[in-house]
Amino acid sequence: MKKFRSFARGGIHPPGNKGYTSDKPIRNAPLPATAVVPFSQHIGAPSKPLVAPGDHVEEAQMIGEPAGFISASVHSPIPGVVKEITSIYLPSGMKTEAAVIELDGEFSRLGKTHEDRDWVSMENTEILEILKNHGVVGQGGATFPSHVKFSVPKGRTCEVFLVNAAECEPYLSADHRVMLENTEDIIEGIRIIRKLLSPKRVIIGIEANKPDAIEVLKAAGEPEGIEIMPLKVKYPQGAEKNLIEATIGREVPSGKLPIEVGVINANVGTLVSVCEALRDDKPVIERVVTISGGAIAHPANIRVRVGSSIRDLIEECGGLTEEPAKFISGGPMMGFTFSNLDSPVIKGTSGILALTDKEVKHFAPTACLSCGRCIESCPMGLSPTTIFKNIEHERLDEATAYGLDDCVLCGSCAYACPAHIPLVSAFKAARGRKRRLSVRNKG
Ligand code: SF4
Ligand code: SF4
Repeated sequence: MKKFRSFARGGIHPPGNKGYTSDKPIRNAPLPATAVVPFSQHIGAPSKPLVAPGDHVEEAQMIGEPAGFISASVHSPIPGVVKEITSIYLPSGMKTEAAVIELDGEFSRLGKTHEDRDWVSMENTEILEILKNHGVVGQGGATFPSHVKFSVPKGRTCEVFLVNAAECEPYLSADHRVMLENTEDIIEGIRIIRKLLSPKRVIIGIEANKPDAIEVLKAAGEPEGIEIMPLKVKYPQGAEKNLIEATIGREVPSGKLPIEVGVINANVGTLVSVCEALRDDKPVIERVVTISGGAIAHPANIRVRVGSSIRDLIEECGGLTEEPAKFISGGPMMGFTFSNLDSPVIKGTSGILALTDKEVKHFAPTACLSCGRCIESCPMGLSPTTIFKNIEHERLDEATAYGLDDCVLCGSCAYACPAHIPLVSAFKAARGRKRRLSVRNKG
């Protein structure tokens, strides 16, 4: 059997459950009658609202401008009237201001062809400005503003541009479908980023369970010198640091960014947005989302406008067949459990899952068995049990010394733990406490 590359330490093999949707072509969701568009859909400062109640907006009009270096712009996904600016909670639990826009007027882009823009003759600064003004952010979950990510810091060189096509989270197959159906857009996105970064190598890291996508990417990418690297199916193969180790064997030091080892990376969905922003003058107003899980009548991959309600998307997939045990935004390992189905889809929404009782492990935690399985499964080489015990005893400094901040919150340890100890929830909560303490101390 062929041996594929992987990261060395830890990792787990949860059931993939991708068969629900991986062979279903992407279809378009109906356009929403109302869009709830958050001003914070990215890492960094929320965008500054440019509209007020009563304003009329065009499809794709900028309604929020970046408010600082690490920030992103936000655009209206539909033509309409701003009904109100209100506070909402996202599935992640984050509170943000959002514009509620009611559909009214003509779609200016729908079904119309646009002349390709000549980005090849643009200066790099102009390309970065377009990414900024078109609200391009990382779509693999991190939602880091792309105009910042693709600005190489002074004194650094990007040797490898690494495309994250792993999609290692169970159930999710949106990236897989995008690779099959938007191959040329991904390659064009790579050409644009190649111009910006001038890397020596461009590598696409993809788990070996997507042979059809590997084939089309090889056919389109290899003639342009893009290396397609199939990887072992092991979770979390797509976590940034693990992917770098798996593909080029370099380890990103604790607390450092990938550029420290000469790497800049991006997810395939982000590259489609890069291509659309530069080539088609289209801001990020839609994305592909996997709607799946045992409680969804007809799981699917859907191209949906940002701001559409999750409830409408579930309806579009035939509704629910039973009361789910859990709704998750994202994948089951790193996603967020939520209950408000009126929450909107945002730029970082990779999936919406409605999982049945059978699909969700329901076990009460027991005392630690000192079995070491959490240590064996940790891809970052940490001792989750030690970090947890320190958190339990309110020793946050010790927990930090044992690597609390190096934890990538992948959930492998909690998945492997036979005592069902909620390790990751404890790590997330402890990091939140640390942040609050640091803000209080600064204040
Ligand atoms: S959640 Fe953190 S501690 Fe647990 S396995 Fe992942 S990186 Fe390691
Ligand atoms: S896997 Fe669970 S039971 Fe085993 S050592 Fe880790 S925390 Fe304890």
